[in-house]
Amino acid sequence: MGEGRNRVLIVGSVALDNVTTAHGQEERILGGAAVYGSIAASHFAPADLIGVAGDDFPQRYLDLLQHHQIDLQGLEIVPGGKTFHWGGEYQGEMNEAITHFTELGVFADFKPVLPETHRDNQFVFLANIDPAIQLQVLDQVRNPKLTLCDSMNLWINIKREEVLEVLRRSDVALLNDTEALMLFDTHSLPTAGEKLLDLGLRHAVIKKGSHGAQMFSADGTFAVPAIPLTEVKDPTGAGDTFAGALIGYLASRPQHDEMAFRQAVLVGSACASFVVEDFSVHRTSGLIPAEIHERCRVLHDAIHCEPVVF
Ligand code: AMP
Repeated sequence: MGEGRNRVLIVGSVALDNVTTAHGQEERILGGAAVYGSIAASHFAPADLIGVAGDDFPQRYLDLLQHHQIDLQGLEIVPGGKTFHWGGEYQGEMNEAITHFTELGVFADFKPVLPETHRDNQFVFLANIDPAIQLQVLDQVRNPKLTLCDSMNLWINIKREEVLEVLRRSDVALLNDTEALMLFDTHSLPTAGEKLLDLGLRHAVIKKGSHGAQMFSADGTFAVPAIPLTEVKDPTGAGDTFAGALIGYLASRPQHDEMAFRQAVLVGSACASFVVEDFSVHRTSGLIPAEIHERCRVLHDAIHCEPVVF
């Protein structure tokens, strides 16, 4: 017991993506919510990845994950199986992906079995994947201190009840704005935030793409902008990078009070700004702490203001 005190357990898709943006078209590049999330978390705390891939998953991608000290004991490789394959495109403001295809491959029959060493992890990130798989992971962790849950429109459409069940069993929800509005059939973000808190969540973080993110909790609301970037090459993984950095940062901190959560949202926004500068994880995999610090400083300056006097 106590082994996984500050380790972050991350379950979610491990993918080969085909991505089209105004900056080009890339095929079978490294992607998946758990991949983006683990790499982001690994900048702050040790990460343990739970997922599945086929034997078509290139060795160089496994090497890249291992290079970040990501524990891959929980990554099952299915002989003869096909890795989850997603194809999508971004247009205009690039705030939302248009999905061309989703081939579940080995995820269709995946039943996660957590290595014994991972069951005491205190920080759990349920990254985007079938909510049934997220629930199976939750059933196997013994006593998590902080569980963060993400999802997407596909699962909200076809498995709404299971998505709500995962949210009820989590501490923090991290959804993008359109997903949060859709989940509660509302046009108001504060209403969606309130309804998430009503489910029993302590914090609801709603991502707004290039407009930043807003957090709701019993202590009120907190908003962080996105780093103003003049060029975005590929927004894939921005949400997962945000989430991975947020939970990694919290895992690295001794306390998890409201201020730590506010800092974590800021760190999430800073890290997400890197991943969109290039395809796949090209930009986030080589990040150094000084780069992250600098963007946190920019965001901190952007939201800082002396109290109003009149
Ligand atoms: P995001 O942070 O929302 O941009 O997440 C991007 C990643 O989500 C991509 O790398 C995809 O492989 C992955 N993805 C797309 N659709 C799904 C899905 N239905 N379930 C799980 N992961 C998905």
